[in-house]
Amino acid sequence: MKLILLGAPGAGKGTVAKLLTKMDGSVQISTGDILRGAVQAGSDLGKQAQAFMNAGDLVPDELIMGIMETRLQEPDCEKGFLLDGFPRTIPQAEALKVLLGKIGIELDMAVNIDVPRDVILDRLTTRRTCSNGDCQAIYNIKSSPPKQEGVCDKCGSPVIQREDETEEAISHRLETYNEKTAPLIGFYDNEGILITVTATSSEAVIAAITEKLGQ
Ligand code: AMP
Repeated sequence: MKLILLGAPGAGKGTVAKLLTKMDGSVQISTGDILRGAVQAGSDLGKQAQAFMNAGDLVPDELIMGIMETRLQEPDCEKGFLLDGFPRTIPQAEALKVLLGKIGIELDMAVNIDVPRDVILDRLTTRRTCSNGDCQAIYNIKSSPPKQEGVCDKCGSPVIQREDETEEAISHRLETYNEKTAPLIGFYDNEGILITVTATSSEAVIAAITEKLGQ
């Protein structure tokens, strides 16, 4: 399947993407994960992106399109992909349309995961992430804590609160979402490929997607 997952930070895009990869071998492509990996590796990309990310601002479109142009043409994308956190602006959506046209790929749909703001805020402030850039496993101190406090179950690295998940950065990220990313809902509606799922459980989102794909 070739899907875009839209939704505010904390809507569950990453969780839904991970569950979908198990269904048909499609790969999850998270620009946030790629950028955090680059910051940790200290690469040029990471150095250029870090200040924007820590402030809860978007990284410039040119940098993101540079990443995605390469990533979408890698062989593992042939089975399908789940775009998690990309596109985030109308110019990115327009550039993606041109890129997909050029490489001959058609999207199945764009899924707007719609979750109430109080749920989002609660999820983001209680979210913790593995600090190892190659792992980045996600935990939640209330609903799914690591077995040993502060230690990743998968790789043993410290589990931390992301710098952009302080209350101040979160509220800025949500404003940025409303201003720059929410307009993509209208964009993909016009393209005729939008579905909106209002659900707080990932299972319900998956069920809505598989039902639509089966139609
Ligand atoms: P995420 O993990 O998707 O919430 O992304 C974390 C941060 O990475 C965002 O707050 C942005 O600073 C940056 N980022 C991720 N994806 C994009 C994108 N498509 N466009 C611009 N910035 C992005």
